[in-house]
Amino acid sequence: MSFALGDEQEAIREMARNFAAEHLAPYAVEWDRNKIFPLETMRAAAALGMGGIYVGETLGGSGLSRLDAALIIEALATGCPTIAAYISIHNMVAGMIDRYGDEAQRHKYLPDLCSMARFASYCLTEPAAGSDAAALRTKAVRDGDEYVVNGVKQFISGAGEAEVYAVMVRTGEAGARGISTLIIEKDMPGVSFGANEYKMGWNAQPTRQVILEDVRVPVANRLGPEGIGFKIAMAGLDGGRINIAAASLGGAQTALDKAIAYLGERRAFGQNIGQFQALQFRVADMATELEAARLLLWRAACALDAKAPDATKLCAMAKRFVTDVGFDVANRALQLLGGYGYLADYGIEKIVRDLRVHQILEGTNEIMRVIIARGLLTPQ
Ligand SMILES: Cc1cc2nc3c(=O)[nH]c(=O)nc-3n(C[C@H](O)[C@H](O)[C@H](O)COP(=O)(O)OP(=O)(O)OC[C@H]3O[C@@H](n4cnc5c(N)ncnc54)[C@H](O)[C@@H]3O)c2cc1C
Repeated sequence: MSFALGDEQEAIREMARNFAAEHLAPYAVEWDRNKIFPLETMRAAAALGMGGIYVGETLGGSGLSRLDAALIIEALATGCPTIAAYISIHNMVAGMIDRYGDEAQRHKYLPDLCSMARFASYCLTEPAAGSDAAALRTKAVRDGDEYVVNGVKQFISGAGEAEVYAVMVRTGEAGARGISTLIIEKDMPGVSFGANEYKMGWNAQPTRQVILEDVRVPVANRLGPEGIGFKIAMAGLDGGRINIAAASLGGAQTALDKAIAYLGERRAFGQNIGQFQALQFRVADMATELEAARLLLWRAACALDAKAPDATKLCAMAKRFVTDVGFDVANRALQLLGGYGYLADYGIEKIVRDLRVHQILEGTNEIMRVIIARGLLTPQ
């Protein structure tokens, strides 16, 4: 077992870190304050291969692994966790189309998604179906070679800006087996959007309802056969959870780095505050916890790459642990800056606000415990 990254992985990480330092970090506070979704910046990331990280190379993707994706998303999040997280969601949809789409669908959508000429959103949650996603009610009724779709999707990241929506709909019986996945486009008649939600963090990406009223969607836009939509949605989330965790790690690492720098500058009681052993111990603990979180994250990403039977359980463990540690470390970093930590210009309060939602979305951390416990208690 080697914990060292290969030369190519180091290069990928370096490339994403440099991009984050140059194109994300200097603007992150302004994007948050003014609710700017930086489309052109993300297209610049896509030009470096970050729009289709695990899509095959023939259709414009980078053909990389889940571990590579985790390295990229962590690195991007050192500049802005919100943009890193949206890029992860976009990649999740591209990955779903690559894995479950037919040739026509892959050729139609993937080149534009990989270049981010078009942006993607993932639509599972509904107003009355969040954690219990298999209870979703958005209905797709077959009419010849089209489905007529009616329903509302809630909390959709990128909605209104994205052109391509992977929408989980009910085509059959109640429960998970009656769900299918349709690719719905923004300009299809009957598609509209709710207001951009006013929220605690993640302000650099819009969150809106997607409202579907008698939308006629060609059957040719269904991913895979009818009835496997829930499986497709959950398969996408395994990798999504790795990335959301990676985004927490990158944000928390930046918060810690800022706090360490501050300990060397700020003076109190005649010395740098970094000379107080109580604070030295605090950063020692924070760095140790982030390193432990990183190891679990890499372990889960490698399990997913290897298609290990316990990959889903490990992804849930990593999502739960890393997002909890990430939020906690960022929050403790804020404390180390005293009152300045609370000011937007210092960049840490935004990270704390951004990382809070990682404990909630792509499955709450309570649902991660449900998945882990199921993996432990169900006889193999
Ligand atoms: C900013 C933001 C962006 C989002 N982006 C997207 C997106 O792009 N696409 C998308 O589909 N969704 C998205 N979501 C939705 C997100 O995934 C859901 O909010 C999340 O899954 C929880 O669902 P809920 O909010 O309905 O909470 P509920 O399911 O109502 O849960 C309420 C509480 O009950 C707990 N709970 C529920 N069931 C159990 C159980 N069995 N055991 C123990 N505790 C339980 C939950 O953990 C939670 O604490 C986003 C959410 C936010 C806030």
